[in-house]
Formats: sequence, structure tokens, C-alpha cells
Amino acid sequence: MSDLTARDSYRIVSLPINHMRNEDSGIIGRGTERFHPNPKSDWPDTPPSDWNDWRWQLKNRITDLDGLEKRMTLTPDERAGVRLASSKLSLGITPHFFSLIDKNDPRCPIRRQVIPTLDEGRVDPSEVLDPVGEDSSSPVPGLVHRYPDRVLLLVTDRCASYCRYCTRSRLVSGAGGYDFHPEFDKAVAYLRQHTEVRDVLLSGGDPLLLSDDKLDYLLTTLRSIPHLEFLRIGSRIPIFLPQRITPELCTMLRKHHPIWISVHTNHPRELTSEVREALVRLADAGIPLGNQSVLLDGINDSVEVMKELVHKLLLCRVRPYYLYQCDLIQGSRHLRSPVGKGLEIIEGLRGFTSGYAVPQFVVDAPGGGGKVPINPEYVIYKDAERIVFRNFQGKVYEYPEPVTPDGKRIASPFPDYEVSVKD
Ligand code: SF4
Repeated sequence: MSDLTARDSYRIVSLPINHMRNEDSGIIGRGTERFHPNPKSDWPDTPPSDWNDWRWQLKNRITDLDGLEKRMTLTPDERAGVRLASSKLSLGITPHFFSLIDKNDPRCPIRRQVIPTLDEGRVDPSEVLDPVGEDSSSPVPGLVHRYPDRVLLLVTDRCASYCRYCTRSRLVSGAGGYDFHPEFDKAVAYLRQHTEVRDVLLSGGDPLLLSDDKLDYLLTTLRSIPHLEFLRIGSRIPIFLPQRITPELCTMLRKHHPIWISVHTNHPRELTSEVREALVRLADAGIPLGNQSVLLDGINDSVEVMKELVHKLLLCRVRPYYLYQCDLIQGSRHLRSPVGKGLEIIEGLRGFTSGYAVPQFVVDAPGGGGKVPINPEYVIYKDAERIVFRNFQGKVYEYPEPVTPDGKRIASPFPDYEVSVKD
């Protein structure tokens, strides 16, 4: 205990031995044994000073067939998929994320997220380039204004690694040829005029891939617009490139509070010790963290996998926020699970674990309808006098609607209805 600070000593004073400080992060608490350091097995001779440098990680990304085949044996389908990737969403995998792949298992949940297969060339009639209709809600390039008080700002077309199911595959992986959106000034001018906007979500691409200086400039510019209250960043960097979450980045972000960050992780194996440290660093900088997962066939479409993921997220101080039905991206059929799987997961979490661990399952309505929450049905019957519903165990309960002191029913803003339930 000699290396503990006075504050740490105070905090652990009455805790049993397995609650004590975890050496690599300073976190105190249960569950740290569920996180494992990155094995670095494919770069055994790389010194830690390089491995822990985010610029080294970016410089050494795997971006082509040669780079992959030097380190693993691909299936014929994967080899053909990588060749295809050069004409659509590029291949890009950081050494950190690549090291998590099981090279002996073509169904590995990490591998299938980032290594393309020939299936990407098979396009269903329902699949389109812009599945959630962002382009039609874009009054200026790089800005999507669909909801009344918030906008999406696409600030870069680069990511640390490329997800094979990316909704914005038409825009990312260098498709726009910029690392900082060239029309940013037009987006800022739009925001200055639109005083109804109070919430800006920075996305891309991945905003945390920008240098500290560029990001600082961007956030300072947005903070100079008085009606913008809430800035959010959507990022997969803490998962793909945890080395990027430096103390300097966190210090810079703190200047622009309130800042919230939504990370994107799909499988519990992605949450390594390094990722946990990066997330805790962001949380320690006062940044509330949420997670968005995409429901992916054979990757995370089971209650068991999702339960482990959401529990590990809470240990990293990240609130599971959304579970998305995979959008109708061209060539994504092999990764898309049925909507029923998402409902089954929510049904298997709600009531069976902490409410904070249960994300909202949503479908981003094809064509531009926005996010629609989809829930298992709990309400069985409702009229002016009562609501009948079931709980997580299927037991049925009734709640009487309130009446005024003189016995009158209070009009309900929602219509009466009845759903048929299976015996
Ligand atoms: S990190 Fe996000 S924007 Fe980048 S490829 Fe993955 S899903 Fe797309």
C-alpha cells in the first residue's frame, strides 16, 4: 500500500483485499479482474513507448491485403472481401484492435467487425447508400438538421479503424478527401442563425482523431455561439485507439464543458484494461459517458454477451445508452440481426439487472424518420380507469388511474388500447 496516495488510503480503509487499488489504473472496485491487457501478440518486439503512442498506432494501421496476410491467414471469403474494400469502405485496423482478433476463428466477434468478406458485395434491394436519409436533411454540407433543437456535425471523414457496417460508409474512410470538414465555416454560420439549436453532436468520421489543436479550435468556435448549450462527441477512439485519450486531450476537453461523449462498443472483449483506463480518464475529466452498440449477427445478438458488455461498461463508468438495430447499409445483410433479437435482449436485461445497465433499443427509421424506440410490450390493457401490465417475470398487475377529490377521472393524454397476449 506504500504507493497509495492519502486519498486512496482513505477510500480503501474498510474494504476487503479484493477491492484494493488495481495497479494499472488506480481504480478501486469489484470486477477489475474482468479486464485484460491487450496481448500485443502481433507486435511482440514493439517497445511500450511506441505501442502507447497513438501516432505510432495510426502509422502502423493495417490497411491492405499484404498487411493482413503477414499476420494472419484469411479465409477465401475474407481475401475477396479485402480486395472489394478498395472500391468502397476502406480497410483500416489499429494494431491495438487487431491484436484482439482470434486468428483461428473466422467467426471471432472482433474480426467480423473490421475484416471485410465477400458478403459486402451482395446488396439487398432494401439496402441503400444513405440508409437513414441524412443527406436529405442537410441544409449545408457536413451538417444534418433533422430534430427540432439539435444537429449533427460531421467534422472529419477519418476513423481510426473502419467498421464494416458503418452507416456513413459513403462518407468515411477518406471518401471526402479531408481530415477537417472544408465547409465547417458554412456550418458555423448556419448554427449562428439558427437559435433554436441548443445541442450539437460532433461526429464524422471520428472527431477525436483530430489533433488537440484542431479540436480545441472547433470546440472554441462552437462555444462562441451563445445559444449552443450542449456539445456531444460521438467517438469510437477510446475503443480502437485508447492511447489517444491522453491527459492533455482531457485537459483541453475540460475547458469546453458541458461536453458529453458517446462511445461505441459492441462486444465485451473490446473492453480491455487500456480501454477501461481511457474511459476512466475521460470520466475523471468530468465527461459523462454513454455507449452506443449496434446489434450484429453472431457478434452481440444474445442476452449473455450483451449482459457482460453492459456490466463491463458500468465498471468503466459508461452508461449503456442505445442498442441500435443495424441500418440498411449496402452489403450489410450478413451482419444484420432480426429486430426480435434486440427485443429479446432488452427483455432479458430489464428487471434482471441494474436499470442503468439497460440501453434503449432503437431503429433509425429508414429514409429519415429518426430514431424510434422499440420495446417489449409490457402494457396489456389501458382505459380511463386502469392500466394492466406485466412485469419482467410475466406476472400481471393493475394500477388504478387517479381520480379528483370529487371522484372524477382525470383525462388521459394517451388513447385506450388493448393488446392481445399469448397464453
Ligand atoms: S467508427 Fe463510427 S464513423 Fe467510423 S467506421 Fe466505425 S461506425 Fe463508421
